[in-house]
Amino acid sequence: MLIRLSHKITRDSIVDGPGLRAVIWTQGCKHNCMGCHNPRTHSFNKGFLMECSDIVKELEDLRLHKGITFSGGDPLEQPLECLEIAKVAKDMGLDIWCYTGYTFEELINKRGSKYKEGWIEFLKYIDVLIDGPFMQQNENLLLKFRGSENQRILDVKKSLRFRAPILMEEYYELQTEEVAIAR
Ligand code: SF4
Repeated sequence: MLIRLSHKITRDSIVDGPGLRAVIWTQGCKHNCMGCHNPRTHSFNKGFLMECSDIVKELEDLRLHKGITFSGGDPLEQPLECLEIAKVAKDMGLDIWCYTGYTFEELINKRGSKYKEGWIEFLKYIDVLIDGPFMQQNENLLLKFRGSENQRILDVKKSLRFRAPILMEEYYELQTEEVAIAR
């Protein structure tokens, strides 16, 4: 299966979730958030295609990594492709974080007009979801792992169980200004 990416995989990120992480940058996003830091990832025709199996091979080379993070673009535009990668990553003992411009409520609403095949199946493999669009009016550079205050850091297993967004409070402390500036 082919997945459309915007950049090569980042192997050693320390800012896209806790610990050392590999980041998979998907191409394609419909949200068009004002002030988006990466507008080149919006087009569904740009970027490049890569076999999911080749991404998996790259993951097999990882050492000392805590997990992988799906970012974009919006990974939820390619849920079946991300699912294929996530299944293998889970078997390797990696934890899975994912960013999306959709809200958790939109993702689990199978009757919603936005619902896409594979959302629920992919969510089942995600440990932590940072959800919602970036809102420039709510931007806060001191937030950990997210850009604006409306975005939530969710425990996906619990949120699916209760069919309601459950926050991961441990990630809500603000970082110091020095750390924020360094990023
Ligand atoms: S969801 Fe992310 S990539 Fe998409 S427009 Fe918003 S900030 Fe940009």
